[in-house]
Amino acid sequence: MSNKQFDVIVIGGGPGGYVAAIRAAQLGFNVACIDEWKNAKGGPALGGTCTNIGCIPSKALLQSSENYDHAGHHFADHGIKVEGLSLDLAKMLARKDAVVKQNNDGIVYLFKKNKVSFFHGRGSFVKAADGYEIKVAGAAEETIAGKHIILATGSNPRPLPGADFDEENILSNDGALRIGGVPKKMGLIGSGVIGLEMGSVWRRLGSEVTVLEALPTFLGAVDDQIAKEAHKAFIKQGLKIELGVKVGEVKSGKKGVSVAWTNAKGEAQTLEVDKLIVSIGRVPNTIGLNAEAVGLKLDERGAIVVDDDCRTSLPNVWAIGDVVRGPMLAHKAEEEGVAVAERIAGQHGHVNFNTIPWVIYTSPEIAWVGQTEQQLKAEGRAYKAGTFPFMANGRARALGDTTGMVKFLADAATDEILGVHIVGPMASELISEAVVAMEFKASAEDIARICHAHPSLSEATKEAALAIDKRTLNF
Ligand SMILES: Cc1cc2nc3c(=O)[nH]c(=O)nc-3n(C[C@H](O)[C@H](O)[C@H](O)COP(=O)(O)OP(=O)(O)OC[C@H]3O[C@@H](n4cnc5c(N)ncnc54)[C@H](O)[C@@H]3O)c2cc1C
Repeated sequence: MSNKQFDVIVIGGGPGGYVAAIRAAQLGFNVACIDEWKNAKGGPALGGTCTNIGCIPSKALLQSSENYDHAGHHFADHGIKVEGLSLDLAKMLARKDAVVKQNNDGIVYLFKKNKVSFFHGRGSFVKAADGYEIKVAGAAEETIAGKHIILATGSNPRPLPGADFDEENILSNDGALRIGGVPKKMGLIGSGVIGLEMGSVWRRLGSEVTVLEALPTFLGAVDDQIAKEAHKAFIKQGLKIELGVKVGEVKSGKKGVSVAWTNAKGEAQTLEVDKLIVSIGRVPNTIGLNAEAVGLKLDERGAIVVDDDCRTSLPNVWAIGDVVRGPMLAHKAEEEGVAVAERIAGQHGHVNFNTIPWVIYTSPEIAWVGQTEQQLKAEGRAYKAGTFPFMANGRARALGDTTGMVKFLADAATDEILGVHIVGPMASELISEAVVAMEFKASAEDIARICHAHPSLSEATKEAALAIDKRTLNF
């Protein structure tokens, strides 16, 4: 038996794991967190996919590339002349890396502040013995023991069969965030959140981007009206989007990548690109956990089987985040981490899956919470819809960014808000008001009667709520 005993051992230091560790420590537990991520120098890099090759670096590059795009195409509208504009991609990538490091270091600080013991290496089950013994394989090897185990081992990108990631020509999100020169032509397989964000970055920096999507509809999970508006905006920006395609053979060579594909009409096509990003989903990661040693149950997708409270098939073993069912989102992982720590402490932690916001950080941004109009129709629910365009919003005009709208969906009888959908400027920030409203079971009228600052984009939210009763004031 190890002499290092913990109340709670968290395996995985991404947003699910590190937040679970901090919350458990706040609740008075003696906590360890094991994470194997290595930075370029082989040292620890806490924060998981989200911090290292996901949410944070993608947003850093989205911001930088948007600034570049604005300087090149939109500053002139404001009377600002830019001469000799040029791109220092190496500096842009270095800034992104610095942002990532600030976040890595921030978590180290938070662990110290909360007295979470950190172990750098791979954690795997040894055996169940009055709690669980976990081996940590890092620079050295040691075994630690814990009464409760929280598994937060995240996910990995799904490769396209026959076109493995080489991160040179065929890129996952990892390679897509560190291309050393702007590719002339870029292909993107999959038009999900990650693919669209990566495609936007490189298009703004000058690549000609073609998106191949197998599904016949664009952004199928998004409200139809919002998805159509976004599609229009992306096409206008120059993104080529092909829907309903079948991807065939992918050949990668010195000159780039060639993709054989069939369009929706069944015509054979070939796409020749310098780089190909494959973004067709993510696979739960349990590699190296030695789950067999303790009989941990996985489903057919490889996800750890959990109940509504994140309990696994083993007593006192919990699992959260991308490695379990539910949306693969950092904030969902964090909420589950907090809830599990509280359940271990005998409290009633809770995650409301109906009010988890979704955001796509493209330009225009897309954000939503709750049900879409097509879902309500399929359910046969009586609802009212109200929309308000940013074109009629003073702040959006002042920003010079009037694409898109806010859309409210409310129950026809009770006026309870059932969904809010936004495409347009700062949708990622605006959606919070809708999340709060839905958590408090607000009606559309509640939002319509609240005073919103003028001029602000949030007035479009209030006006969309007013539109439910066909009484917008500014449209
Ligand atoms: C390009 C991109 C952009 C994204 N943007 C967003 C966004 O804007 N907003 C959003 O909400 N989500 C976003 N996501 C999704 C988000 O990154 C994930 O949902 C989130 O990281 C999941 O958190 P997690 O804690 O479950 O796992 P992860 O963040 O994947 O962390 C798991 C950690 O566990 C470690 N690990 C795994 N196995 C072991 C082991 N046996 N021993 C020790 N350590 C181990 C891994 O090394 C890793 O550090 C994005 C993802 C990508 C790829």
